[in-house]
Amino acid sequence: MSKKILITGIGGQDGYFLTKQLLEKGHSIHGLLRPNSPTNLGSLNHLESHEFERLVLHEGNVTSKDFIDELIRFSQFDEIYHLAAQSSVARSIQNPRETIETNVLGITNIATAIRDKSSKTRLLFAGSSEMFGSLTDGSQTETTAPNPQSPYGLTKELGFHLINTYRKHYGIWAATAILFNHESEFRGDQFVTTKIIKSVVQIAKNMEGVLSLGNIQVERDWGYAEDYVKGLLLMMDQAEPDDYVFATGRLHSVKAFVNRAFKQVGINLIWSGSGLDETAHNSENDQLVVRIDKQFYRPGDIAGTCGQPSKAKEILGWSPETSLDAVISKMIQHHQKLISLEA
Ligand code: NDP
Repeated sequence: MSKKILITGIGGQDGYFLTKQLLEKGHSIHGLLRPNSPTNLGSLNHLESHEFERLVLHEGNVTSKDFIDELIRFSQFDEIYHLAAQSSVARSIQNPRETIETNVLGITNIATAIRDKSSKTRLLFAGSSEMFGSLTDGSQTETTAPNPQSPYGLTKELGFHLINTYRKHYGIWAATAILFNHESEFRGDQFVTTKIIKSVVQIAKNMEGVLSLGNIQVERDWGYAEDYVKGLLLMMDQAEPDDYVFATGRLHSVKAFVNRAFKQVGINLIWSGSGLDETAHNSENDQLVVRIDKQFYRPGDIAGTCGQPSKAKEILGWSPETSLDAVISKMIQHHQKLISLEA
């Protein structure tokens, strides 16, 4: 049966994969784009034209209660995937107010509009592992106590609790996907993985440039966005709403990510020094390719996050399918193509 579905943040990384997967199932997709967005259509530019033509796009801000109320009241969607967010931890430290406004008002407006004006609409909220703060013992699950370390993490904790409260007290179908880091060729430029890949591709092409990074010892649980979006669809299809962790359960440091990316373009690194003096040189020609820059260190940066997706495996039958090397390879190929088109 074809459903009428709204995706907020449709122009972001996950919006791209979610749109493709839902269109393939024959659903009618409405997307919410921010007016005057600096990224314009964002990742939707990469859809096939026959896919793009099937979308109904709305322009509006999730922070506007009147706009959200009217859109949800008028459209009576079957499902809403609320992905729109200021999603960068680093930016949230610089601009806490913008992050709190977008992320807190966004989920509050949408959940309340569903409660008051469209109570049959199902709501899936994109939560984040950042609400847990740093890994303390082994791995993080749906029952790990929140301990956010950034404004971004705080807003995701608030959203998680709001969803739980509305589900419990008002009986709406609402659930949080607790997403660990997931990357892809459509990851925004403000994220460290894309910064690394773009620099690696540039250095491999003309042997020029140096990649400047902050704390490369921090560890993350990195998956592939398309796999995680498959999990969102499985969640939405459950009879009862519940929260699920989506993660790979594998930890890699930023330094390991850098090594793997350079290796894929045929450059082996030799590291020396430590802390702010740590550098990496190309083993072939001794060119400096990585250095540490204090300006990229974040106050309160989380040392590690690692998720335990066993609930999603057991109940949804979900598993991450794409290895970190495969994710890196997709990102490299995409940016190599973009560079060759620019040339
Ligand atoms: P992106 O940053 O790529 O996409 C977020 C989208 O939200 C962008 O298209 C952005 O538009 C839009 N947006 C921002 N502010 C507003 C606003 N005020 N009104 C309407 N739209 C707005 O994020 P991802 O696709 O990677 O992530 C999707 C969701 O999952 C986000 O909520 C994110 O916090 C969460 N998440 C993602 C993780 C990851 O590793 N990718 C990990 C954990 C959680 P614009 O381009 O105009 O800014």
